[in-house]
Amino acid sequence: MLNPWRSDLSTLFLALLIGLFVGQLLHSQALTAWVILALYLGHHLFHVNRLLQWVSGGKAGDRPQGAGVWGEIYYLISRLRRRNRRRKKQLIRLLERFRTATAALPDATVVLSAGDQIDWFNEAAAHLLGLRRTDIGQTIGNLIRNPKFIGYLAEEDYQKTVGVTSPLSENIQLEVRVIPYGDDLRLLVAQDVTQLRFMERVRTDFVANVSHELRTPLTVIRGYVESLADHADELPPNYARAFHRMEEQTLRMQSLIDDLLTLTRLESSTHQLAQSTVDVPALLTQILDEALMLPMESKPTLSLRLESAEGLIGGQQELRSAFTNLILNALKYCEKGDHVEIIWQRDEPGIRLDVRDTGPGIAPEYLPRLTERFYRVDASRGPGGTGLGLAIVKHVMARHGAEFTIISTVGKGSTFSCRFPTERIAKSL
Ligand code: ADP
Repeated sequence: MLNPWRSDLSTLFLALLIGLFVGQLLHSQALTAWVILALYLGHHLFHVNRLLQWVSGGKAGDRPQGAGVWGEIYYLISRLRRRNRRRKKQLIRLLERFRTATAALPDATVVLSAGDQIDWFNEAAAHLLGLRRTDIGQTIGNLIRNPKFIGYLAEEDYQKTVGVTSPLSENIQLEVRVIPYGDDLRLLVAQDVTQLRFMERVRTDFVANVSHELRTPLTVIRGYVESLADHADELPPNYARAFHRMEEQTLRMQSLIDDLLTLTRLESSTHQLAQSTVDVPALLTQILDEALMLPMESKPTLSLRLESAEGLIGGQQELRSAFTNLILNALKYCEKGDHVEIIWQRDEPGIRLDVRDTGPGIAPEYLPRLTERFYRVDASRGPGGTGLGLAIVKHVMARHGAEFTIISTVGKGSTFSCRFPTERIAKSL
């Protein structure tokens, strides 16, 4: 097919040639040239006007007819418009499907624009957060007035989630998460965790009750076993060994129950953290003195470096329990010839405790699981523990807003660090 642009040019050229010929016959070449150019310009202006009218309002189907370049332009624009229409329909269908899917989600989903204004929300958001159609355009903080939620929104730490009660009912527990996306847009997702929290409470209560109930009979058994073991020299050697083992195991059971009760107390949200001033240097000195008095077969050497005289604001009992666990672990897993160093120092802007040892160390694959309850790297290694010590430390640190880290190399030793934030530092003791 001939290029329409070339065909148009050839027509103009031919028209001018004929014009010149006619002009020569009439003795007025300039006039005929003007007439031909005016007709040519008029033809284009006519089509420009049709094009304007078509694109500014006409439907894609009413394509104007034209020859040459204009026919081609009309055809291409019409094809482009048809394609756009198809794409728009596809997008609308996709959006519809997306909306239907999000609307069916059991979690409340709210799209927030800049300034935390509600742009859109799904059905579940109406049931869980009490949002209504008229709330669109409103700031979410004005509708969910929970201080924890407002603080979470302001903090903009999107790795975290926040637990809040539903504005509709005290009995609905929600876990809220904000996910940023696009330019200044945020997606708020609230999951109903009422059942989950209930199950957690049942489990915690069960562990607490069982541990509590076991305490009394165990104390009685321990009393009898101890008094029998005291008279071991009057018993045949086999019995004496058995009573000794029974004494060891009842002691172990007792520390297991104590640790379980401590852990349950720490996990309980109703158990408020004390905000007393804790003299950490004095506390560490005391724990160290007690540790040195413990009967142990092969003790490592122990040193305390107090580089800061400052203390902490928090729970004395909880901190004592966490620090004791770390120090006793170092003593438990190190052998004669090893060294354990406890350092209390500033770690600008906060403060930290390091319990460093030159003991056996822990292989990297075990490190992430050490703070799980009952997790022990090698149950046959060292004296029998409960596997709850580091879980307690982790909880106590979390309650104090501190970061708990473990660095360890097999054969070289381990460093357990507790980093406390500035607001926990007690300057005057
Ligand atoms: P446990 O009662 O078994 O000591 P913990 O929770 O205190 O329980 O510790 C979990 C595991 O971490 C221990 O079983 C032990 O294998 C390992 N561990 C803890 N502290 C040390 C340490 N200082 N050196 C080597 N291994 C350690």
